[in-house]
Amino acid sequence: MFPAEADYDYIVVGGGTAGCPLAATLSVSHRVLLLERGGAPQEFPSLASQDGFLQTLVDTDSSDSPAQTFVSQEGVPNARGRVLGGSSTINAGFYSRAHPGFFSASGISWDMALVNDSFDWVERSWQSAVRDGLLEANVTPYNGFSVHHLPGTKIGASTFDSSGRRHSAADLLNFASADNIRVALRASVDRILLRRRRSQSMLAIGVVYSDRYGRHHHAMTRPGGEVIISAGTLGSPQLLLLSGIGPRPYLSSWGIPVAVHNPNVGQFLYDNPRNGISIVPPTPLDHSLIQVVGIPSDGLIEKVPGPSSFGYLRLASLNVRDTPLVRFNYFSNPDDLTRCVAGLRRAAQVIESRSMNEFRLPEWWAAGGGPREFRYVGAPLPANRSNYAAMADFCRQNVATIWHYHGGCLVGKVVDAELRVMGVGSLRVVDGSIFSVSPGTNPQATLMMMGRSVSDLFIYSLI
Ligand SMILES: Cc1cc2nc3c(=O)[nH]c(=O)nc-3n(C[C@H](O)[C@H](O)[C@H](O)COP(=O)(O)OP(=O)(O)OC[C@H]3O[C@@H](n4cnc5c(N)ncnc54)[C@H](O)[C@@H]3O)c2cc1C
Repeated sequence: MFPAEADYDYIVVGGGTAGCPLAATLSVSHRVLLLERGGAPQEFPSLASQDGFLQTLVDTDSSDSPAQTFVSQEGVPNARGRVLGGSSTINAGFYSRAHPGFFSASGISWDMALVNDSFDWVERSWQSAVRDGLLEANVTPYNGFSVHHLPGTKIGASTFDSSGRRHSAADLLNFASADNIRVALRASVDRILLRRRRSQSMLAIGVVYSDRYGRHHHAMTRPGGEVIISAGTLGSPQLLLLSGIGPRPYLSSWGIPVAVHNPNVGQFLYDNPRNGISIVPPTPLDHSLIQVVGIPSDGLIEKVPGPSSFGYLRLASLNVRDTPLVRFNYFSNPDDLTRCVAGLRRAAQVIESRSMNEFRLPEWWAAGGGPREFRYVGAPLPANRSNYAAMADFCRQNVATIWHYHGGCLVGKVVDAELRVMGVGSLRVVDGSIFSVSPGTNPQATLMMMGRSVSDLFIYSLI
């Protein structure tokens, strides 16, 4: 049982992809409380294997389900993790380190030796467990198996091991010091407790959280301690707003007392649009999640990099359990449309390459004995690929998500370069909400690395 109030060096809000390695690392020499609103992965068998991936995204009826689904204001279905390990416990498992350009664009002064050590630390905890078409379409060179972000085609690493068993950020808690860490599950943090200092500036001193029975608890930091929010791209800005840190007029419209006016909380919210082409194979294939990725120099198949378009998040209610209302404004910046069209043209080259012939319908299926064709799920690509307007329209009409949404608490706008919330002492944000660009082909590796490395980079010893 947890004491109703206790003094911790660090309170980490959100046991997700960044939060678990962060809490584990801090606990080696400090007293840490990790508060996660979801349950343990072991309670949900579908999470354990690759085969359960889609089922997890469908079984979302219960308020306790590990995937909390939401639909953006544009009507695009999406999901977020609500379980220990966060979205790394429900995701597709593709694992890839960030591209070098990410580090200079992130606004953080990384120590690259520490970055590489931290990636190694993460990868040590589990074994990193369609290439021809991409090569024919000139997405070269072939780089074999790699965890690095390399131009060309590669077989990526996966957080599913060779027996198909999932590993997630929750596994990184095995590196924690059991004597120093307390992990509370189904503990939803309702707000950050703030105190006004004599200098009139605000200081985070603890949190209010509620358990599965709706009982409220306080947890306090000891003097010199910190509250670190790792509640994810939707959860972190939401919690700041509910705690009175955000745009003054907006907070007042909800009747939330304003602690710190910051117009940027919940703004600059990005999602990488996905525009896949899906075909039905003539014979059933083994089920597999994404394993092969092509990184051409002029655009990425499926995932529009960046993106440059952004939207915002608004509270849906004053209840932290309700996902905020989210608008990503896909393709509002014409650069994203240009990249999408370039990526789809490349995808068309792949699909029309010789290696894909076996996926065309057999001749006897093709109407009137014509050429062998593909059977598409959803809309086929426009026949005239050089018609930019038609291709752009396809991008807009068929946009989906690759679930790499980020932003809402950007560096330089909500947090400083050491991830401290501007205008509030002893409060940081460490998760995907601080990014203005999604790192590499897939973000989870970088988020785990960040959880590991920030304590060495910015958080100083209390002792
Ligand atoms: C379906 C899906 C598939 C994906 N596939 C891949 C992939 O193959 N490869 C890849 O690299 N990335 C993938 N991603 C993206 C990647 O998983 C996320 O970008 C990353 O996990 C986000 O990490 P985070 O630490 O920012 O947030 P999260 O991991 O989401 O952690 C946030 C945590 O905070 C908790 N929380 C939120 N609010 C509160 C609160 N008020 N109180 C207490 N706890 C709270 C949440 O329950 C959650 O556990 C996928 C994502 C999804 C959803």
